[in-house]
Amino acid sequence: TPILLWFRRDLRLSDHAALHAAVETGRPVIPVFVRDVLVDGLGAAPKWRLGLGLGHHATALEQKGARLILRSGDALEVLQALVKETGAGAVWWMRAYDPDSVARDTRVKEALKGQGVDTKSLAGHLLFEPWTTETKTGGFYKVYTPFWKAVRSRDVAEPLPAPSRIPAPEAWPQSEALADWRLGAAMRRGAAVVEPFVRLGEAAAQGRLGAFMASKVAQYDEARDLPWTDGTSCLSENLSLGEISPATCWHAGRRAMEEGKPGAETFLKELVWREFAYHLMWHTPRILTGNWREDWDAFPWNTDDTRPEVIAWQRGRTGIRFVDAGMREMYVTGRMHNRARMIVASYLTKHLLTHWKIGLRWFEDCLIDWDPAANAMGWQWSAGSGPDATPYFRVFNPVTQRDKFDPRRAYVDRWIAEGQRTPGKDALAYFEAIPESWGMAPADRYPEPIVAADEGRQRALSAYENRGF
Ligand code: FAD
Repeated sequence: TPILLWFRRDLRLSDHAALHAAVETGRPVIPVFVRDVLVDGLGAAPKWRLGLGLGHHATALEQKGARLILRSGDALEVLQALVKETGAGAVWWMRAYDPDSVARDTRVKEALKGQGVDTKSLAGHLLFEPWTTETKTGGFYKVYTPFWKAVRSRDVAEPLPAPSRIPAPEAWPQSEALADWRLGAAMRRGAAVVEPFVRLGEAAAQGRLGAFMASKVAQYDEARDLPWTDGTSCLSENLSLGEISPATCWHAGRRAMEEGKPGAETFLKELVWREFAYHLMWHTPRILTGNWREDWDAFPWNTDDTRPEVIAWQRGRTGIRFVDAGMREMYVTGRMHNRARMIVASYLTKHLLTHWKIGLRWFEDCLIDWDPAANAMGWQWSAGSGPDATPYFRVFNPVTQRDKFDPRRAYVDRWIAEGQRTPGKDALAYFEAIPESWGMAPADRYPEPIVAADEGRQRALSAYENRGF
């Protein structure tokens, strides 16, 4: 009987434990993607990017003799219907770790099992299952460095090869059309502006990894902090949809380390930051929805997201160039350099005293590399309310940060057109991407800071001290 292979955020053929195991059985394999409430609830950019990823993955499956069957509805009902239609005896998938997916998958597993369907969920979205790393006293890690020390020497299985052919069923079930799903409909900004920055699918992801290991990793230690260089792997976009497995990245990093490339260990450490985010989300899912340190609930965060200060932050018009450059980079490319993510998050939560959830939601809407665990950890780290966070009183100064990390202003000039006689194409692309209703033009005067670097620091510190910390 056929095996239903339920794809989710694992849009690849190589190092895919469930697909590999299914093909090994020699039974027909029917790949399925279900557009359920979790898909409908995605932010605009991640949903649009998912649509591109699905189209690409469907083609990759076709080249192996298979088809990606698309269905909408409640995941359990869809899978039950497909079991009935196809006579499948098994439903296999790759595990997810966010609380909503876990609840859904548990429900699906129990119900299908009850009906005698063989269900299997396999590991591969992470290097290490989040419950397998324990402190000496049996708890979970709340600090990164001991977590890194605990995992760095653990074995990671070598990546599995892609199947050369996927056995097909006698007849394919009906599929909905991807175009009818309109997964890009909520993109406020011009998708055509963002699209050139997308690197779609497994081969592109492998290409990114190869290029990084060939020419960037050796300088990664320094270059990763400089937003004007192209010094990082940019793999987060592909990792977020599983277009490449973390194990594939890990082994490439290990090989580079063995070859003596200096930045390789730092790259492995960054991959472990991703693991740490999942470890935290698994053990404390509240990290997604509220202050991880609950005493922060008393902090006077401003929660009004209609304030002009918040709008200026979202639109890259705070008058603080490093902040505005980061926000515009995200709007045009769907990504933002990590240094800029830290600066814009610090400015929103400290200088503007705004709740990190407002920033988290804006990122969730704008990032093509959106990841629930990394985004929540990043925001709570920046705000000071998370585990192992930067202390609240350590307020990033966005002006001195720019002097340090963008001394020649290459990054801010790349993204901010106002005030430049001949702005470059990326700075101009921003104005093609934004809705007309924002009423911004490249020839506008660049604004004065809405909250200056020093003034905001003082405001943040007194709010913090008044709370009795
Ligand atoms: P590289 O430097 O090449 O690193 C390799 C990989 O390691 C990345 O692809 C990523 O998977 C992982 N990684 C690196 N840094 C981190 C980190 N700090 N936390 C977790 N994983 C990390 N990352 C996301 O993938 N999605 C998000 O939604 C996201 N939101 C963030 C929000 C804030 C406020 C902050 C401060 C950080 C956020 N990050 C997020 C983490 C980080 O900025 C990105 O992972 C990184 O910029 C991706 O670029 P890269 O692939 O070139 O990274």
